[in-house]
Amino acid sequence: MMEKIQAFLREVGRSAGVEDWIIEVLSKPEKVYKATLTIKMDDGTIRTFPAYRVQYNTARGPAKGGIRFHPNVTEEEVTALAFWMTIKNAVVNIPYGGGKGGVAVNPKELSRNELERLSRAYVRAFAEAFGVDKDIPAPDVYTNPQIMAWMLDEFETIVRRKEPGFITGKPISLGGSLVRDIATALGGFYVVEEVLRDVDLEKPTVAIQGFGNAGSNFARLASEAGWKVIAVSDSKGGIYDPDGLDIEEVLRTKKETGSVINYEGARRISNEELLTLDVDLLVPAAIENVITEKNVEEVKAKVILELANGPTTPEADRILQKKGVVVVPDVLANAGGVTVSYFEWVQNRTGEYWKEEEVKRKLSEKMKTAYKDVKEESEDLTKLREGAYRLAVKRVAEALRWRF
Ligand code: NAD
Repeated sequence: MMEKIQAFLREVGRSAGVEDWIIEVLSKPEKVYKATLTIKMDDGTIRTFPAYRVQYNTARGPAKGGIRFHPNVTEEEVTALAFWMTIKNAVVNIPYGGGKGGVAVNPKELSRNELERLSRAYVRAFAEAFGVDKDIPAPDVYTNPQIMAWMLDEFETIVRRKEPGFITGKPISLGGSLVRDIATALGGFYVVEEVLRDVDLEKPTVAIQGFGNAGSNFARLASEAGWKVIAVSDSKGGIYDPDGLDIEEVLRTKKETGSVINYEGARRISNEELLTLDVDLLVPAAIENVITEKNVEEVKAKVILELANGPTTPEADRILQKKGVVVVPDVLANAGGVTVSYFEWVQNRTGEYWKEEEVKRKLSEKMKTAYKDVKEESEDLTKLREGAYRLAVKRVAEALRWRF
């Protein structure tokens, strides 16, 4: 994974015209914290879990990035994710470097009390690393506002003061921000509105893969805007209605039955079919590597909004570019989440809390400015990914030059 990052940096660094020493600095993480968390389980047995926190680069500000609880977590994976946070935070121009954390654990096997002990142990292990001006964690895969609340409580106990800006993605009553729950979808929506204007597409037809936080909120925003959402899916499969799905009904079906596939009146399709439907806008919002060399020729969408991280393989990406498809890259498309995390941190630090409309207005401005900046850095609309990477590397490079 690190070889990929180094190859990426050599290529983007060259096209961004940055010095070799900057590429060298960015090829390695600044700091890697490792620990073994030892937890007493409810039945009295003791278990250990490997845990990591990586501060990849802090030239532009404190490290920022989520903590994931997942069995596949490794030091290498967390490091790569921390690198991508450095890039994402620079693309949307928030004053942060990049970080990430993780614990190798299957949280579904833990009771609520065990999960609380693990969350608190994580903070105790890395308390030195964290702080409102040092490194600010947030939720990621299988971590949520409750876990952020336990982590905040543990941190404040250790430092013997209140410091709500130590972590974001908190419950509202502990200093969380309004709009954080839908921020990723809304940020993507604001960007894609601009993209559609640029490609002269009004009221697109839409297919969305994944119906979790990002996908389902995007579906609601799209249908509220009067766009026809003709297909959605989750891990159990997809549904398709060329006349448009009733999204409120799909949301109810998902909530009541656990899957969108139980929605009545639509044709059942597979996740693979969904990706190749004849739609204007395709939104992968589930997992990585779903648009590949194998299916990319069949993709008919004119615009792809990458709400998921890494849904398109590099090979498929090259083919999409040749086909003239406009791909809004993940580092821009799903940066609304970390942007509202930044707003949460600002509110915690000033003690002044913003109304919903104010958060939305600020998010819209940030995302639209980021899109404009990326576009200016891109040769054309089919090369937004290259533009976003170049922009980010240039921004990090500039901060590094002032420091050395
Ligand atoms: P989530 O867990 O809330 O939802 C994931 C959805 O994907 C679920 O509907 C699940 O059923 C579906 N899914 C899982 N495996 C699938 C498969 N093989 N095929 C089709 N669907 C499948 O997750 P989320 O928070 O919505 O995140 C989705 C993606 O967006 C991830 O790549 C995540 O990294 C990215 N992302 C999310 C946020 C955020 O704030 N939520 C921020 C940045 C990036």
